[in-house]
Amino acid sequence: MDNNVERKMCSFCGVQGRQGLRFAGGLGAMMCEGCVADYHRVFETPAEAVEAARPPWEAMSDADILGQLPRIENTARQVNEFLVEWVELARSRKLSWAEIGKAFGTSRQAAWERFAQRVDGRNDRSEIA
Ligand SMILES: [Zn+2]
Repeated sequence: MDNNVERKMCSFCGVQGRQGLRFAGGLGAMMCEGCVADYHRVFETPAEAVEAARPPWEAMSDADILGQLPRIENTARQVNEFLVEWVELARSRKLSWAEIGKAFGTSRQAAWERFAQRVDGRNDRSEIA
C-alpha cells in the first residue's frame, strides 16, 4: 500500500500532495485539508449549502469543462491504482483469483486477465490459482 502523501492528489481540487499537507480519504478518493475545511464551512452555512447543491457544470464555461477532464482522469487513475493495491493486498493474503473474481461478480479468469499482470507482474497462465 502506498501511503506516501507526495504521490497522492486531492480528488476535489487536484492539488498534489506534499510533506505537511494532510489528506482525508477512502476507497481511492482523497480530500486535502483545504477542501475538507471548505466543504465543512459550506455544509455549516445554509445559503452556501443550497448553492453547493446545484450541479457545478451549469455555471461552467466550455473551457472550464475541458479543464476538468484531465483532473477527472487523474482522479480515476488514482482510484484505479488504489484498486490494484487492494487486489495486490488480497493476493498477498493468498486469496485466490476465484475469490477476487467473485467479489467483482466476474469469473476467476476475468479477474486474472484484468489484474494479474499489474499485481503479480507476470502474465503466465500457469499462475492462475
Ligand atoms: Zn483539495
